[in-house]
Amino acid sequence: MGRKRVAVIGAGVCGLSSIKCCLDEGLEPTCFERSGDIGGLWRFEENPEEGRASIYRSVIINTSKEMMCFSDFPIPDDFPNYMHHSKIMKYFRMYANHFDLLKYIRFKTIVVSVTKRPDFSTTGQWDIVTETAGKQESAVFDGVMVCTGHHTNAHLPLDSFPGIEKFKGRYFHSRDYKKPQEFSGKRVIVIGIGNSGTDLAVELSHTADQVFLSTRRGAWILGRIGEEGYPMDTIYITRYLEFLKRIVPLCLLNYFAEKKLNAKFNHAIYGLQPNSLHGVILQHPTFNDDLPNRIISGKVLVKPNIREFTETSAIFEDGTREEDIDVVVFATGYSFSFPFLGDCAKVIKNQVSLYKFVFPPQLEKPTLAFIGLIQPLGAIMPIAELQGRWATRVFKGLNGLPSASNMMADIAQKREEMAKRYVKSQRYTIQMDYIPYMDEVACLAGVKPKLLSLFLMDPKLAVEVFFGPCTSYQYRLRRPGKWDGARKAILTQRERIIKPLKTRVLDDYTGALVPYYLQIFLIVALLTVTFLLLTFLCNQLCISFS
Ligand code: FAD
Ligand code: NAP
Repeated sequence: MGRKRVAVIGAGVCGLSSIKCCLDEGLEPTCFERSGDIGGLWRFEENPEEGRASIYRSVIINTSKEMMCFSDFPIPDDFPNYMHHSKIMKYFRMYANHFDLLKYIRFKTIVVSVTKRPDFSTTGQWDIVTETAGKQESAVFDGVMVCTGHHTNAHLPLDSFPGIEKFKGRYFHSRDYKKPQEFSGKRVIVIGIGNSGTDLAVELSHTADQVFLSTRRGAWILGRIGEEGYPMDTIYITRYLEFLKRIVPLCLLNYFAEKKLNAKFNHAIYGLQPNSLHGVILQHPTFNDDLPNRIISGKVLVKPNIREFTETSAIFEDGTREEDIDVVVFATGYSFSFPFLGDCAKVIKNQVSLYKFVFPPQLEKPTLAFIGLIQPLGAIMPIAELQGRWATRVFKGLNGLPSASNMMADIAQKREEMAKRYVKSQRYTIQMDYIPYMDEVACLAGVKPKLLSLFLMDPKLAVEVFFGPCTSYQYRLRRPGKWDGARKAILTQRERIIKPLKTRVLDDYTGALVPYYLQIFLIVALLTVTFLLLTFLCNQLCISFS
């Protein structure tokens, strides 16, 4: 029998890693990409294209390089920790070239339909109709990997904004925003306080006359930069903290996280604090180091939700009104759909039933996988790669899936957990924690690192795996898919974080020093005070007992 043929739909980051996973498992991939190039969302164009996600010119990613890279292809050590989209594209091109992936991609080819073949229950095969330059073609595939992304269709909730039809200014979704120059001198309202809303509000505030940032719920604002200047995700996405999260009650974690964030700037004073249902750990993180600065400078004014628009103004839910509004940007997120799939995966209110966010549970054969359809508290790329490694092994029959009823039960449990933790919003239908989800999929693929034996066999590595950033190389330490460079990549990850910052060679200055005699004096003073305090306490005790 020949090699199994797999159709990969989309050549964004998830499509690229899926092609590679197919090749690693000896499958024969054909990738269909509707546009003329790889990269998906991360390839910037001046004008938004139909059917492909669109980003603004200034986008800088908010997941750091060590946390977002593919597990057997570290990002070059001189690349910045948080990359501009142009640098990200450079990395994806390096990846595609290194693993020779381009020859498997058919560009300018749209997948029009994916349907089960009549003998699907025995073969698991699919008929795929594609269209290239207006000409349709059909082909048979043994497996399908859907990699079409979930940040393409704008969610534009105009129904929630009475009067918008009367508004005489300009309004549009953040997907259509490219650069700030054309908004110079304007009065702009940005609706939504996700990463798009805050990025746009900050950028526009440099040229606009005034920016209003409207939010119905508020948000906790995190920074990209953590303690000692290390990327935030490399500090907080560790196995050690994940372990603590499991034993410390959620309310305590939220309490300490809020205390820490408020120490930087008080979210209540800045008008950003969400209500109690929206604790730090109970929301998708909004990263913006510049927002508090723009707020305290008065260039961004935080406002509540909008009750109504008039021809020229916006009336907010607290009754306040802002006149002479020129522009409204709806940074209200995205919805997803799979028009080519028919009934195989129904999306209702941004929800689709998938086992581990990958496999539809009701199919007679597990030959359809969704890759990257997840909103992690971390980077999507390593997740998509691991999903691809697992899915291709399932396609090959090397890993099995539970019964349909068990998969449905797992899906229901995940939904229940999500409903308990997050507010009801279409933003929170595919939300997942990074390490628990990676470990779950890694278990299924048989590649989860074995910490206990690692501590016995290789304690140095084990310490970095447990206490250090949980980078994707950890999932390449074992077969199947072991990468010989994984150990070294883990032990050198901190060097790669620091490398791009070393652009000025420093002398041996070790920081402000306290002279030796002053240190002795302070120690003696401290001991004397302690001695006096103890003597005083003893005297008090003797008096009260006598
Ligand atoms: P996409 O990149 O959207 O690629 C999908 C591809 O499929 C496209 O090339 C499209 O042309 C093609 N396609 C679609 N339909 C068809 C069809 N019918 N036939 C053929 N081809 C088709 N994630 C992070 O991990 N970290 C971040 O910091 C981060 N920042 C983000 C910033 C912004 C502004 C946005 C909007 C998203 C961000 N994301 C981030 C999430 C982002 O979606 C992922 O990083 C990643 O791009 C998803 O890749 P993908 O391959 O799944 O989808
Ligand atoms: P998002 O995270 O879904 O945020 C949408 C915002 O709009 C939320 O504040 C939401 O409020 C609000 N909203 C939605 N419907 C609304 C309504 N009817 N009325 C009022 N408010 C409404 O969307 P996004 O900011 O575009 O981000 C999409 C993805 O891209 C995320 O994964 C994000 O991390 C990523 N991203 C990253 C960067 C970066 O790396 N620099 C930049 C932009 C985006 P509720 O919370 O109340 O629902």
